[in-house]
Amino acid sequence: MRILVTGGAGYIGSVVAEELLLAGHEVVVLDNLSRGHREAVPKNAELVAGDLADRNCLDQLFRSRSGSASSSASPSTFSSSSIDAVMHFAALIEAGESMKTPETFFRNNTANALTLLEAMLAAGVKRFVFSSTAALFGNPERTPIQEDDPLKPTNAYGESKLLVERMLAWLHRIHGLRYACLRYFNAAGASRPDKGEAHDPETHLIPRILQVALGRADHVQIFGSDYPTPDGTCVRDYIHVSDLAKAHLLALEALGKQQPDSKPLIYNLGNGQGFSVKQVVEVARKITGHPIPVLESPRRAGDPAVLIASSEKIQRDLGWKPEFPDLESIMESAWRWHRSHPHGYGA
Ligand code: UDP
Repeated sequence: MRILVTGGAGYIGSVVAEELLLAGHEVVVLDNLSRGHREAVPKNAELVAGDLADRNCLDQLFRSRSGSASSSASPSTFSSSSIDAVMHFAALIEAGESMKTPETFFRNNTANALTLLEAMLAAGVKRFVFSSTAALFGNPERTPIQEDDPLKPTNAYGESKLLVERMLAWLHRIHGLRYACLRYFNAAGASRPDKGEAHDPETHLIPRILQVALGRADHVQIFGSDYPTPDGTCVRDYIHVSDLAKAHLLALEALGKQQPDSKPLIYNLGNGQGFSVKQVVEVARKITGHPIPVLESPRRAGDPAVLIASSEKIQRDLGWKPEFPDLESIMESAWRWHRSHPHGYGA
């Protein structure tokens, strides 16, 4: 199949693009390169440096190319467009930032997703895999969190993604759009030593900790030590980026086998194990041999205390099984990337 990967120059999108190529698909990456990296796009993918807000650009991408649909690897393809399915990663992802400028998140994550979906529907493309998030759940009522638990985001980032999930449900009902929502818990680690997480500014816990180990910062701040958790710091479920990527391929395959009246695929993706901020720092100390000083700081707005996934549904339905479920191997892979690329891509 020929797959459009929006945000394919980003951390997770670029790993999925690579897995799609390995599985024999053609990949078109659409990325405005505002936060992604040209160097992260796999060599065999076609890169279109364009913006999701640009409907003309999307229409051109989806325009029919004679012969491309019939040369598709999937016999069940019904699209007349040059694109058979879309995987949508392009989004703003920093929960903390979303509590300062929520409007940017609704513009980038919600409005742009709608533009993309409109263009897809106009072109007859009816398979969509959406990069969703655990932030949909807010402060969960039970742990581990199951897919049908209440959706009550505590930050604008989560809300911006929840709105997309809601739109998708209507487009499925009315237009027969087939879709999967993959709700990532905390993506971490590196798929290869030369491919990893590189945000600017970096806000995520593991890369920030490793920047201290590299001597690029004196200490890591711990955002809140007064949460109702065993050591007072927030608990998260970390999942290796390669395991996340594999779930996307399984979801795409499952969408291909669906009947018109099949239900959307909604899955949580985590390892079912929670680690506090302090525990993550401890694991990093062990892997890097660096003391990693910490500074206890105020809470970050919008952070839920505990987010741990139940991923039983995707394991049961699609046979997904994480290959790197333990935090030490996730941290080791991240450390290999950061040590060999202390300034990220291009440096
Ligand atoms: N965190 C922290 N210090 C940092 C970055 C993050 O204490 O420098 C905390 C953050 O408040 C959250 C957890 O680490 O409780 C994971 O944050 P991250 O931004 O990595 O992912 P999120 O859970 O927000 O998606």
